[in-house]
Amino acid sequence: MQFISHVIDGQEAESVSGARFASVDPWLREPYAEVALGGPEDADLAVRAARRAFDEGPWPRMGYAERGALLHRFADLIEANADALALADTTDMGKPIGDARGRDVPRAAANYRFFADHARLATGDTLPMDSGHHAYTRFEPAGVVAAVAPWNFPLMLESWKVAPALAWGNTVVLKPAEDSPASATLMAGLALAAGLPPGVLNVLHGYGPGSAGAALTEHPGVDRITFTGESATGRVIARAAAANLVPVSLELGGKGANIVFDDADLDGAVAWSIRAVFSNAGQVCLAGSRLYVQRGIYAEFVDRFTGAAQALVTGDPKREATQLGPLASEEHYKKVRSYLDGIEADGGTIRTGGLGAGWTVLPTVVENAPPTARVCREEVFGPVVTVSAFDTDAEAVTLANDTRYGLNAMVFTQNLRRAHRAAAALKAGTVWVNCFFVRDLRAPFGGVGDSGIGREGGNFSREFFTEPKAVVMEI
Ligand code: NAD
Repeated sequence: MQFISHVIDGQEAESVSGARFASVDPWLREPYAEVALGGPEDADLAVRAARRAFDEGPWPRMGYAERGALLHRFADLIEANADALALADTTDMGKPIGDARGRDVPRAAANYRFFADHARLATGDTLPMDSGHHAYTRFEPAGVVAAVAPWNFPLMLESWKVAPALAWGNTVVLKPAEDSPASATLMAGLALAAGLPPGVLNVLHGYGPGSAGAALTEHPGVDRITFTGESATGRVIARAAAANLVPVSLELGGKGANIVFDDADLDGAVAWSIRAVFSNAGQVCLAGSRLYVQRGIYAEFVDRFTGAAQALVTGDPKREATQLGPLASEEHYKKVRSYLDGIEADGGTIRTGGLGAGWTVLPTVVENAPPTARVCREEVFGPVVTVSAFDTDAEAVTLANDTRYGLNAMVFTQNLRRAHRAAAALKAGTVWVNCFFVRDLRAPFGGVGDSGIGREGGNFSREFFTEPKAVVMEI
């Protein structure tokens, strides 16, 4: 059976204890690999390796052009190894191979390229002081970054953290999710092949609580913690960061509202809304899982939306035609199934969908669920959408904002005033108008409320991954 190792100080490594855990293929529902199971000793080795590479190695001291060139080479190798990286994510967590190869891998490579160039071109400030002193700012690398990632877009989301951290001269210990370990170890091998010095990008595998995740985020040798995952885990990690007084960035869960006004272009609204909630089998923090449709077009929209949902191809994620694979693990499947089980008792009706083969959940459309129903309030993280009618613009915004989350929202309308008013009134880190998940890497990305603390992207990433320093000089 395949073995997926840690990568520490440029070497593939077993755990000090020799412990391993199984990685399960969620389509075949059987283990396909053994993974090094890291604990405190392994976390310590990884953090020490990253610290040495930071304190003594060339990486933080390199010019931006040289570091950027290495990151571009790394991106070249990611693209050249797209098939292997895509297959790793598909086998680990059931993502359709076409999405993994066509979207996740290119975006991961693009992230390294973007941040390599962004760091190189960024400027600081010079401050003309009234006293006549000359003052300027420097953005210095923060040190050792602990990056803890989820399983839904393994390679791509890891690159959102690792790329800016590296581009600004930090060293990294990446803890991938236990359900998606494979692509991270491959990626670290490609980083070494591209010429990144040993210890600059380390990968530590294992579980969260009481395992590699906790050991890494509680380690006193870490200077930054960047986390993407569930809101409940975010709270635990925020406490670990507080204990060591370490800045932390938290990209957490979502319960995205999707408002379709009666003047929307229906073809576009249906197509984007389908994508917003069913791509990646709904295992997307940004999923538009609460759909609000204005009453005049409700019946027609829901008919068309339901038809489009039923036309999606579910099945083996390694087949090119598949649009929805299985859910990522048995545990996650059981969680999503528990939401389906509760819908009717809460007053909702399932218009289409339900359970599919193995750990697959079919695209599921739920009507009549009251706003208090569990399926309307909690993040399902599966291909399940609730649909409700509204009458006025104000009512739509009130319904959309009735959540603890605030990652993103979508608005479909052809009326400019309506779009701007709604975009301003919605409680969310990003509002997409007549589209979904179109991202410019300079834009802030993150959420309010239970969706997190901090923003990723462009200068927002620079603020997090550097220590700004003021230098004041008498002339
Ligand atoms: P999770 O919180 O269960 O796990 C995420 C990572 O944290 C894993 O690597 C896990 O091992 C680790 N972890 C768990 N407990 C830990 C602890 N006590 N200490 C340290 N590490 C710990 O999340 P998940 O199930 O892997 O991912 C799904 C969640 O991620 C959803 O809530 C989703 O909305 C969210 N997400 C958010 C974004 C965003 O950008 N806001 C993007 C993708 C996913």
